[in-house]
Amino acid sequence: MLICDLHCDLPDKVIGDVEIDSNNAHWSEDRLKKENTYVQVFASYVDKYAHDDPFDRVNSLILNFKEKLKKTDIGIVTDYETLKRNIAGGKNSAILAVEGGEALGGKLERVKYFYDLGVRFFTITWNHKNQLGQSSSESCENAHLTELGIQVIKQLNKYTITPDVSHLSEAGFWDVIETSTKPVAATHSNSKKLCNVRRNITDEQFLAIKESGGLVGISFVPAFLEKDETKANVVSIIRHIEHFMSLDGEQTVALGGDFDGISTLPFGISGVNDVDKIADELAKINYQDEIIAKIMGKNIENYIKNAFL
Ligand SMILES: [Zn+2]
Repeated sequence: MLICDLHCDLPDKVIGDVEIDSNNAHWSEDRLKKENTYVQVFASYVDKYAHDDPFDRVNSLILNFKEKLKKTDIGIVTDYETLKRNIAGGKNSAILAVEGGEALGGKLERVKYFYDLGVRFFTITWNHKNQLGQSSSESCENAHLTELGIQVIKQLNKYTITPDVSHLSEAGFWDVIETSTKPVAATHSNSKKLCNVRRNITDEQFLAIKESGGLVGISFVPAFLEKDETKANVVSIIRHIEHFMSLDGEQTVALGGDFDGISTLPFGISGVNDVDKIADELAKINYQDEIIAKIMGKNIENYIKNAFL
């Protein structure tokens, strides 16, 4: 089976002598099952309060991660042709992302710099306000994108880097939808209707992303799955999938687990080795194979086919 996922925070876990092939993180090459082919978006995230120079931090995370990938059999993908070849050959793929617009250090021209490094998804904010906009996690009177934020969306469109609206304030979200001429993704966000937390998205937001031709990745963060996070399990993930499917989300729903971005996981999921349990659970409730394949990976493959250069 093809298993694609829009969000994993492994890059800041594989520092020094910690490697991608085998480690104690949620995601490692030795946890990948031989019978599946994996495509993973890896985000290099930055907390502006932990790092004086966010650009420098993200840049060094990406450079380090690319070096570490060379020691594995995982190929970096920046275009559909390479992805197609990898999938046909059963080779696993990595796609690079930046999480947190602080990484630009306020400089628009750094969008191109990150594009040249191979970045293809760009999360506008992490959990704090930055030069581009306001996060959904902090309340603020004017939560719109800044003028620079609007310029960055246009620049992301120019280079065909997908604007990622997970973490972004709702007003900022609608600014992205209005500004972007290309598809938009929420790489790791669930349904607010089922679990009313700031990090999740409303049905209206889901429909706007769908309308843009973009993707919504279901996250495995227990607190974004269930009001009582201790109850989160594989069935909770299915509930969010089912809700978005009920909004005609057959081409839009994808996975965005947030492995290694979280300390606790839903019951039954210990890491990337357990992701196929989601497919098993969907089969149990009589989802057709073709639909399961879309949710588990095909929707992301198709998205890259249509949206990448
Ligand atoms: Zn995140």
